[in-house]
Amino acid sequence: MSAIDTLPPLREVIATHGLSARKALGQNFLLDLNLTAKIARAAGDLAGSDVLEIGPGPGGLTRGLLAEGARKVLAVEKDSRCIPALEEIAAACPGRLQIIEGDALEVDPLAHLTPPIRIAANLPYNVGTELLVRWLTPKDWPPFWESLTLMFQREVAERIVAQPGGKAYGRLAVLAQWRCDARIVMSLPPGAFSPPPKVSSAVVHLTALPAPRYPANPKILQDVVARAFNQRRKMLRAALKGLGPDIEDRLLAAGIKPTDRAEVVSLEQFCALARGFEG
Ligand code: SAM
Repeated sequence: MSAIDTLPPLREVIATHGLSARKALGQNFLLDLNLTAKIARAAGDLAGSDVLEIGPGPGGLTRGLLAEGARKVLAVEKDSRCIPALEEIAAACPGRLQIIEGDALEVDPLAHLTPPIRIAANLPYNVGTELLVRWLTPKDWPPFWESLTLMFQREVAERIVAQPGGKAYGRLAVLAQWRCDARIVMSLPPGAFSPPPKVSSAVVHLTALPAPRYPANPKILQDVVARAFNQRRKMLRAALKGLGPDIEDRLLAAGIKPTDRAEVVSLEQFCALARGFEG
């Protein structure tokens, strides 16, 4: 039995440290260690990788990541009440868990971790999408991370893996799938959390591709896609008219009908359209 297995049950940790859930911090804790172990396994082969975990809370997923053999876990937690609970885990795994009390949006993980790096988190809903977009739009590609294994509200998870032709397909799907393989690997009902949130959740696993699926300048692609989906109910010739008077020709050159709406345009077509604005 490893030292992690001798730690008290999470309900006891929460009671001992007075970790009553705070809504403002998006706190819905996972208390079932079998479930957190399963999420940690979904993150891939952790042996030999450093792992960035955002919002460890009382540390259920943290324990799973360490038990699955992560070389080192960097856990960034905003709630100071959770730090003593996390320190108990650190004591059971000497040298393998570094805890930073702070806002994940302000921490530079590369100052603390060595590649290969994977990211795993049951994300606070209030910052989840913002962090994901940041991780998907670094200055250079490939990014500093190999994979992201992230819990989202089910509806957000579906937007990440969506294919053209439906309501879920939008900016997030294009951003994610342009340079990653993305799939939903687990679904969780509200009752898996304490307290239960109003909606179901899902874990998405994204693996960074070595290079984009289709060539395009990232800034141009992001601009085109944002404009197209900001007015997703309009025909593209109207939604994109701010890109110039010749937008109809540009759409046709990319194989897109000017009367189509953004939600039917494939990733490949968006990249072709973006390339038309280069140089
Ligand atoms: N990982 C734990 C689990 O699975 O039980 C907790 C998940 S809970 C949904 C989200 C966690 O993120 C909370 O512990 C919360 O305090 C923390 N958090 C919220 N905003 C944060 C931020 N900006 N930076 C770091 N942690 C944050």
